[in-house]
Amino acid sequence: MHFLDQAKIYVRSGAGGPGAVSFRREKFIEYGGPDGGDGGKGGDIVFEAVAGLNTLIDFRYTQHFRAPRGKGGAGSNRTGAGGKDLVIKVPVGTQILADDEERTLLLDMTRVGQREVFLKGGDGGRGNMSYKSSTNRAPRQHGTGWPGEEAWVWLRLKLLADAGLVGLPNAGKSTFINAVSNAKAKVGEYAFTTTRPQLGVVTHKGREFVLADIPGLIEGAAEGAGIGDRFLGHIERCRVLLHLVDAHGDNPVDAYRIVRQELEAYGADLTGKPEVIALNKCDLLDGELTEALSAELAEASGAEVLPISGATGVGVEAVLDRLIEAIGPGEPSPVPEQDEGEDEVEWSPI
Ligand code: GDP
Ligand code: MG
Repeated sequence: MHFLDQAKIYVRSGAGGPGAVSFRREKFIEYGGPDGGDGGKGGDIVFEAVAGLNTLIDFRYTQHFRAPRGKGGAGSNRTGAGGKDLVIKVPVGTQILADDEERTLLLDMTRVGQREVFLKGGDGGRGNMSYKSSTNRAPRQHGTGWPGEEAWVWLRLKLLADAGLVGLPNAGKSTFINAVSNAKAKVGEYAFTTTRPQLGVVTHKGREFVLADIPGLIEGAAEGAGIGDRFLGHIERCRVLLHLVDAHGDNPVDAYRIVRQELEAYGADLTGKPEVIALNKCDLLDGELTEALSAELAEASGAEVLPISGATGVGVEAVLDRLIEAIGPGEPSPVPEQDEGEDEVEWSPI
């Protein structure tokens, strides 16, 4: 079981390097003046949003990030080299939150390539040359350099998807996302085959959008049952929900209600989002039963119900049409690269 959508990390920017104390020594000048240069600036802590990551798992292994300090100044008024900035790469959709009660939002990394300086490196100390004055021609003063800044912060990933796929385990979510997108989600008959959100890019009628499969929704998820409801954070930013209901399950209406209750309990107005309801696995039923169950579910939900089969593709076009309509015109979410469903993603802090 992996909780990859939040992580707490420590970041510290580099301290400035010390200024130098130095005096000029030249062949024919007996008492040279001060010539100590300033220290270099410490490295900044920078966050960068990159495509191709969709978990925060790497932050389980590396939790401390310290940018290097600036180098000291030197004689001949040479300024010390600055410390290199430390660039922390995060998935698009990562929020950086303060480690306080309110979890105040500090940065929202929503665009691929977005770069934000989070902590500035300390300035270098002044060299003794800069202390020279008419009354003090041979100062030995120098600055030691300003310290860096430090902070503990939370990273929280809210994947940016246009449509969120919800439904009880076994409703056929993974099968569906595999059928309509470039995702390669694991399909299985037991609950929790999928333990983390999957993203897929759907191309339909000349449009592209990102669909996220949200696993683990079961009764009581909001109270922490199973893998809990924390993955629901990922659909907070979706424009529409696709709700799959297993037509072959015990009671489709109950299944629908359970998921709606969990969405409601999570809050964040998830139930206020447009919802497309699909009665899935209709290939297992005859026409009559399909009609009867669809009508029952339409009655219970007060909305249109589309009978489909993710496995055979029947009805899937109509679902995608509805999703495109609900998403509306505009830029699709940044298209993620797909990994092979493994947890490990190549990553480096610089
Ligand atoms: P998830 O838990 O919602 O991701 O569901 P899966 O996609 O893993 O599917 C659960 C089981 O239902 C698997 O055995 C699938 O083969 C099966 N399944 C999924 N979609 C369909 C469908 O449209 N028709 C039929 N007959 N079986 C399906
Ligand atoms: Mg699944």
